[in-house]
Amino acid sequence: MLKNDQLDQWDRENFFHPSTHLAEFARGEAPQRIVTGGSGCHIEDRDGNRLLDAFAGLYCVNVGYGRPEIADAIAAQARELAYYHAYVGHGTEAAITLAKMVLDRAPDHMSKVYFGLSGSDANETNIKLVWYYNNIRGLPQKKKIISRWRGYHGSGLMTGSLTGLHLFHQKFDLPLAQVLHTEAPYYYRRADVNQTEEQFVAHCVAELEALIEREGADTIGAFIGEPALGTGGLVPPPAGYWAAIQEVLAKHDILLIADEVVTGFGRLGSMMGSDHYGLKPDIITIAKGLTSAYAPLSGSIVSDKVWKVLEQGTDENGPIGHGWTYSAHPIGAAAGVANLKLIDELNLVQNAGEVGAYFKKALTEAVGDHAHVGEVRGEGLLCAVEFVKDRDDRVFFDASEKVGARLAGELVKEGVISRAMPQGDILGFAPPFCMTREEADEVATKLGKVVKTVLG
Ligand code: PMP
Repeated sequence: MLKNDQLDQWDRENFFHPSTHLAEFARGEAPQRIVTGGSGCHIEDRDGNRLLDAFAGLYCVNVGYGRPEIADAIAAQARELAYYHAYVGHGTEAAITLAKMVLDRAPDHMSKVYFGLSGSDANETNIKLVWYYNNIRGLPQKKKIISRWRGYHGSGLMTGSLTGLHLFHQKFDLPLAQVLHTEAPYYYRRADVNQTEEQFVAHCVAELEALIEREGADTIGAFIGEPALGTGGLVPPPAGYWAAIQEVLAKHDILLIADEVVTGFGRLGSMMGSDHYGLKPDIITIAKGLTSAYAPLSGSIVSDKVWKVLEQGTDENGPIGHGWTYSAHPIGAAAGVANLKLIDELNLVQNAGEVGAYFKKALTEAVGDHAHVGEVRGEGLLCAVEFVKDRDDRVFFDASEKVGARLAGELVKEGVISRAMPQGDILGFAPPFCMTREEADEVATKLGKVVKTVLG
């Protein structure tokens, strides 16, 4: 086995890490961790650290680490048939079974699932489907996509454009021209201090209506949003938001894409975020929780309404010109089947709801009264603590102070992984669904200690 220092060196010399400060990393100034194992909510690294991963990797290892049921399913599939494609009507038992299991868990009006590999490529598929749909309907102008500031939908060309975070646009010549951004329902950060939630929802709706009016409804194909805002801040929507937004979209014949890459398969304490908040999407994006990241797999769940038009398109034009070599990869599909079974058997969706509520309360008790804690929020096991300079006047810290990153850094030293979200001083907590109340208490207690150390 290689010694740590040899791996460290190879890592810095050869490995182009995503979402990493490249120069600092190469110089040895940025954090490095070589992860070697995991079990339940914990990971281990090469230096012998055992850490409570309160962000489940990138909020994806939903069933927790080290599940032999999924490892065995992957191994069995690899031995039997590691790969066959899904083009021109081919398939495998694993992929067909998983499609059925996904549809059984999706809202009733959904019809089919297309499998990809990542959340980003699933959203690329979704935008292509919207364009195809409107071309077949004879509406070739109806192509622009509305996303929200702080929404996260991937980091490809189109999906990086949809993502409403500056870091993902800067120096990449994004967003692409077909993408429009509107206000996100981020009440704590965006509402005027005296505005009620109801007034703020009305403001979000008015912004959307004004954008549609300016651009022309006949140029807009779809609206994409996460049921609860994810990477942009981990923010559950205010009451009434989705009902009001959906009314506007329906009026203007604009499709709704619910990006459930984070919320799909239980994170909010409901099987799907769409059911949790009463969304009736035309397309749903799924990824992370589909396999709990034991193998890469994503999906685009398409509604009856969209599917009928896609079928008509192929009657007119021949097979749909869209597919990846690895669409519905059997190993990913086998992991998905085993993962969804495990979620049911262990009652993990219910646990996410119950332990989530307990965890939010524990976080609130630990830090909610601190002078620099603006808000503790969450739904199920998607929680956040937002730090502010002045909580009475809701004044935020300057980004150069890196408060969020410093807190996350100190928390790791205590043995707990959180995530400093990319825009604002927001610590995110999205642990595996098997988190216990004792582990929830441990995270909250250690956060309390770290907040005192860093912010006084
Ligand atoms: N959509 C959402 C809501 C996400 O959170 C993410 C990833 N964090 C993506 C899409 C992109 O997924 P991937 O990183 O697998 O491409």
